Amino acid sequence: MARCNAQKKSYDVIIVGAGGHGLGAAYYLASKYGITNVAVIEKGWLGGGNTGRNTTIIRSNYLYDESARLYDHAVDLWDGLSQELNYNVMFSKRGVLMLAHNVHDVQSFQRHIHANRLNGVDNKWLTPEQCKSFCPPLDISSAKRYPVMGGALQQRAGVARHDSVAWGYARAAAKLGVDIIQNCAVTGVKRGPDGAVEGVETERGFIGAKKIGVSAAGNSTVIMNMAGLDFPLESYPLQALVSEPVKPIFPCVVMSNSVHAYISQSDKASW
Ligand SMILES: Cc1cc2nc3c(=O)[nH]c(=O)nc-3n(C[C@H](O)[C@H](O)[C@H](O)COP(=O)(O)OP(=O)(O)OC[C@H]3O[C@@H](n4cnc5c(N)ncnc54)[C@H](O)[C@@H]3O)c2cc1C
Repeated sequence: MARCNAQKKSYDVIIVGAGGHGLGAAYYLASKYGITNVAVIEKGWLGGGNTGRNTTIIRSNYLYDESARLYDHAVDLWDGLSQELNYNVMFSKRGVLMLAHNVHDVQSFQRHIHANRLNGVDNKWLTPEQCKSFCPPLDISSAKRYPVMGGALQQRAGVARHDSVAWGYARAAAKLGVDIIQNCAVTGVKRGPDGAVEGVETERGFIGAKKIGVSAAGNSTVIMNMAGLDFPLESYPLQALVSEPVKPIFPCVVMSNSVHAYISQSDKASW
C-alpha cells in the first residue's frame, strides 16, 4: 500500500475517516476532478469501521423515488470497479432474494417491484417454485411457521469483499497522490475569525486545510460538533451475527423481513 502515513503541513482537502465513503471520495476527487493534494485521516486503520464489518450486500431495490437513482448508480459502479481500481473487489452479482411470508409481505414487495420498475431498477416477483429453483436450499412447503409465499428478486444485486473495497480505493487514491494517514484521530477542527475552516487538530498535531470532508460514520456528529456545528443525525448500533466460513450452500443472498434476518455467504464468513 503506497503513501500510507506520509504527512504534509497542509492539504487542499482533508477527509476525516478512511472507510468506503472517505476513501471513495478521495479517489474520485483525484481521478475525476484532478484534486490530488488530499489527505484521508483515520483514527484506526483502513476500512476498520463499518466498511470492514458489514454484511457486504449491494442492492438498489429500495422504495423511494428520491433515492432510486443514487442507489442504482452505485450498483452500476460495481460492475467495472475492480478493473478501474486495478484491484479485485470480488464483486459477485449473485442476486438478492427477499422472501414474502404473509399477505402483507406479498403486497409490500409487489409495491416495491412496481415502484422500482417505474424508476428503471430491476426487481421481479418469483412464485414459491421459482424461489426454490433460484435458491435450492429453500423449503417451500406450506406447513411452515414462515411459509414462502413468493419473493422479490433483484438479479443484479450481490456481494463484494468489503475490506478489498477499502484497500482498492486506498491504493488507487494513494497512487494519484492522496496521503492516507492512519492511527491519527482528529481531535479538533480549527476555524478562523471569519468562521472559515483552517484545518484539523490531530493526535500528531495540526494539519491545515481549507476544505474538510467528514465521513466518520457514527462519529460524524462528534467531528461536526468540534467545528461548532450541530448535525441533525442520530446514530444507532447495527450488529450482524458472523459464523466461521461455512462451505457454500446458498447461491444468493436470502432476506426475510418477517423473520428480520438474512443469510449471506462470503469468502470471509457467513452472515
Ligand atoms: C453490521 C452491519 C451490517 C451492514 N450491512 C450492510 C450491507 O450489507 N450493505 C450495505 O450497503 N451496507 C451495510 N452496512 C452499512 C455500511 O457498512 C456503512 O454504511 C458504510 O460502511 C459506511 O461507510 P463509511 O465510510 O461512511 O463509514 P466507516 O466505514 O465506519 O468509516 C468511518 C471511519 O471514520 C473513522 N473515524 C471516526 N472518528 C474519527 C476521528 N475522530 N478521526 C479520524 N477518523 C475517525 C473510523 O475509525 C472509521 O474508520 C452495514 C453496517 C453494519 C454495522
